[in-house]
Amino acid sequence: MSVLIVGSIGLDTIETPFGKKQDILGGSAIHAAVAASFYGPAAVAGVAGSDFPKEHLDFLGQRKIDVSGIQIIDGKTFRWSGYYEFDMNQAHTRDTQLNVYTRFKPELPESFRDCNYVFLANFDPELQLKVLQQVKKPKLVAMDTMNFWIENKRQALHKVIRHVDLLLLNDGEARQFMETPNLPIAAARLLKLGPKSVIIKKGEHGALYFSDKGYFSAPSYPQDQLRDPTGAGDSFAGGLIGYLAGSDDLSEDNIRRAIIVGSVMASFNIEDFSLDRMKRLTRREIQERFSEFKRFSEFEAIGALQ
Ligand code: AMP
Repeated sequence: MSVLIVGSIGLDTIETPFGKKQDILGGSAIHAAVAASFYGPAAVAGVAGSDFPKEHLDFLGQRKIDVSGIQIIDGKTFRWSGYYEFDMNQAHTRDTQLNVYTRFKPELPESFRDCNYVFLANFDPELQLKVLQQVKKPKLVAMDTMNFWIENKRQALHKVIRHVDLLLLNDGEARQFMETPNLPIAAARLLKLGPKSVIIKKGEHGALYFSDKGYFSAPSYPQDQLRDPTGAGDSFAGGLIGYLAGSDDLSEDNIRRAIIVGSVMASFNIEDFSLDRMKRLTRREIQERFSEFKRFSEFEAIGALQ
């Protein structure tokens, strides 16, 4: 079953303690779609400018991602510039240029409107809603956002969250948005806004899942190859929803598995800049890392205490 992903398509300029790269392929939709594409067909909707290198579209094509929903219009592609300090859990934005996105009129190709799985990757909540309104009867709608939109479009954010099944946020954003330092309280407040479940991503510390059916804590991976955390959240979400779409199973057990799949994809994505690690990633490596995640978090019950 195919998954529709809408979000930013961008060129990033990134500085981490491991180097600086200019105008490299990025964007929330791109990171998410590439991660999802390992589990089944993925389609992307968004806009890029006439300066968007063709090699990036070719790469998406090689991953069998349907790019017919990407409009290419005259002007400059979305650009984000950011840096990370020694604590690489926190991205610092230097500059966000919406560029062609200010003229983006979301018009989904007819074939995208029947999609059962939709991921509204981090982007302008007004555009997220406009896209969602064009999808006929999705089984699952997941959505991500960030501080930029919490600060600039809070009302629109509330509006789109009402229509979402699964909301993803990182820990800092959940605290900021729900105005509490306590993550379980933030999650309870987020659930009251409409979604059936909430995932709070904690960067290198794993992820927390909250729903009225239960709670799950995904472990972190002891990653010693970290070079650029950009796209970790998007590849987490893309892997998760791609796996759910591929298996077409929304049971709690499968959602837990999908959260680990997301964690696996994020753990690979951060090993190199842009999508470079994903370009080399094999199915075997994914499977091995999934087993490692299982091993790292498995334990037996203790016996009766005397
Ligand atoms: P993350 O998974 O949170 O690290 O997302 C990183 C990607 O988000 C980068 O490749 C950026 O191009 C993109 N991005 C940065 N700021 C925004 C924004 N305000 N809206 C949408 N996408 C953004």
